[in-house]
Amino acid sequence: MAPAAQISHLAVLTSGGDAPGMNAATRAVVRTALGEGVQVSVIHEGFLGLVDGGPAIQPATSASVGGILHRGGTWIGTARSEAFRTRDGRRRAAANLAGRGIDALVVIGGDGSLTGANLLCTEWPGLIDELVAEGGLAPDDPATSSTLRLVGIVGSIDNDMFGTDMTVGADTALHRITEAVDALRSTASSHQRSFVIEVMGRNCGYLALMSAIATGANWVFIPEHPPQVDDWEDALKRTVEASRRMRRRQNLVIVAEGARDKYGEPITTEHVRRVLAEGLGEDTRSTILGHVQRGGAPSAFDRNLGTQCGYHAVQQLLHGDHEEPQLIGLRENRIQTSPLMAAVERTQAVAELLERREFDEAMALRGGSFAESWETMKALVRARPKRASQTAPALRLGVLHAGGPAPGMNTAVRAVVRIAMDRGHTVVGVRGGYRGLIDGDLEELGWLTVNGWGQQGGAEIGTSRDVLSDDDLRAISGTVRREQLDGLLVIGGYVGYAGAHRIHGARHRFEALGLPVVCLPATINNDVPGTELAVGADTALNSIVTDVDKIKQSAVASHRAFVVEVMGRDSGYLALNAGLATGAERVYTPEEGITLDGLRDDVARLNDAFAHGQRLGLLIRSEGADAVYTTPFLWALFEKEGGGRFDVRQSILGHVQQGGNPTPFDRIQSTRLAARCVAFLIEQATNGQQRSVMSGLQAGRVSFTPIVELPTLMSDEARRPVEQRWFGRLRPIADAMEGLGRP
Ligand code: ADP
Repeated sequence: MAPAAQISHLAVLTSGGDAPGMNAATRAVVRTALGEGVQVSVIHEGFLGLVDGGPAIQPATSASVGGILHRGGTWIGTARSEAFRTRDGRRRAAANLAGRGIDALVVIGGDGSLTGANLLCTEWPGLIDELVAEGGLAPDDPATSSTLRLVGIVGSIDNDMFGTDMTVGADTALHRITEAVDALRSTASSHQRSFVIEVMGRNCGYLALMSAIATGANWVFIPEHPPQVDDWEDALKRTVEASRRMRRRQNLVIVAEGARDKYGEPITTEHVRRVLAEGLGEDTRSTILGHVQRGGAPSAFDRNLGTQCGYHAVQQLLHGDHEEPQLIGLRENRIQTSPLMAAVERTQAVAELLERREFDEAMALRGGSFAESWETMKALVRARPKRASQTAPALRLGVLHAGGPAPGMNTAVRAVVRIAMDRGHTVVGVRGGYRGLIDGDLEELGWLTVNGWGQQGGAEIGTSRDVLSDDDLRAISGTVRREQLDGLLVIGGYVGYAGAHRIHGARHRFEALGLPVVCLPATINNDVPGTELAVGADTALNSIVTDVDKIKQSAVASHRAFVVEVMGRDSGYLALNAGLATGAERVYTPEEGITLDGLRDDVARLNDAFAHGQRLGLLIRSEGADAVYTTPFLWALFEKEGGGRFDVRQSILGHVQQGGNPTPFDRIQSTRLAARCVAFLIEQATNGQQRSVMSGLQAGRVSFTPIVELPTLMSDEARRPVEQRWFGRLRPIADAMEGLGRP
């Protein structure tokens, strides 16, 4: 490892198109730098401010980046700058930086901005020499660095950048699109109308494809994968006609703004609308979503992605091994560093491939999960089930929920039914969790039964928290035999996993239980093993974040601290992530527990902060953080010990956290996992195999872990997995962001 780089003054700017989550990244850069003892400035209006200098470049304090986390756009402004494209402009920029002793830059923007910033770094020594020669800089000024260090963070709603699986802003844009399409769906459905919706994405179909999966659209046009046939209009018409015949009431077609046919000719929204309106005589409307996709409060994911990237950007500058400019991004569900310009060049290469109509190559560069999503989408949009194949016998697959309700459960069932039927199999829904399997309460789920389930929260087939006894296993074996089930999918949380483990273990006693069982993680607590993420947690997190934003707003004029209790049982996932996303001063988790010494310290720090002008405090407590130091206890403690300097309110958010429609992220992950789980069950059952597994998302990929490993993967002391990598990754960042006692 290289010795820590000497950086004396760091600056951060946002540039190019604004993106939600840029504020989180800016705040994290400022607070991390200050925590490391490095001076930090913010540059307003992007490269424009950098070239202009003067008041555009301001020293930052921890307090100056308070209260911006929940805001959309970028608080420090962004602008396009023609001057910065010229060497003269960049010389002025260099003078403004060197004149202040700034020797490191974090740029948050798109590929254009990162290219420009890289150029400034490359030219830096020459520019400094020129400035010295002109007399603008003193040659021996110790503040003038011979190099300018640079780290880039991609802020862009398009998710079009290499070197990161998600750009800061893309998830929020998906939220906006999904909200809009959900709203259009209900009106389209009422009037039996078709809607054609245009979403952003000139060279990248990410938003279009993912929003199509998340909203259950019938068709999607993306730049990377043009229709393979000349008469795609005809194929589209036939699909929509077939879907009407299936009594589907609404048709939704999503078009990326850069969609094209296989000859590279644009496929416009208006053209698609005309095809449907004139070709089918359908009442068809089109909507171009435009700039609403950029706007609004950032999602929990974007706040936390921005925060993590900002934190790691500073860490990279101060402690990283690399001299050359780096990009901070999310890959394989980890924050990672890669050479900046290589990422920019590969991003631009995709655009060139599209220009040259080398679509397969462009698709390949997008990476595995994009292509996988495309295949899933294709299976889901088929308007009707395929005929059962003549050769393979049709299977009967059971599906049930177990554990608390998690948004995204219905989404998974819809995908399971459609994908299994598409392959000629039958899906049997078990009502009310394992109880339905014990009592024999099952029903076949049809193609249209699950219409609209992709967007709905709750659990249509019901769920329960049954813990299975020996008698239950006997009854379940009877049901499996009677119903001739060939495989079982359990969508839920820990009790679902425990039940699956028992069923698997009982296969030697009950012959019928020798069937493959797959668990799909769906619990807002994110506390099951074999996965880094469970379906439902993102929705719960966003629900908490929305509520806490409101709670904070309610206290604008007062000196008040809030103790907010969130769910999670023995897992602090929701609490820690919510704390990061809402800017909590302190987060109490079951992993760490609560101690009297810790509380004493918190009382002192809160008192001190309010004494020094803080107006609002936020403490988030996970429901299982401690059995004795409860939320009312914390309230009483802070209220008494605050000594009139501030008052304290408590808020236990409760069951709203399990409700609501699933977020796009939960819909997409749920669909993706369901598709793979069905494929797994079909493969096992068709080949007479009976592996039972826990499916999951690990390092960004779908994984299967044998169910027999369940006991060893769970902690002995508490009901949570032994391994919770997110905790070690997020805790130091939460600590660095916590505002208590900061200057
Ligand atoms: P984005 O960063 O979102 O891709 P732009 O492409 O508009 O947005 O770039 C934002 C700004 O970055 C431009 O206004 C310009 O100042 C600077 N910039 C972009 N490309 C270059 C370049 N090749 N050389 C120098 N500066 C550039």
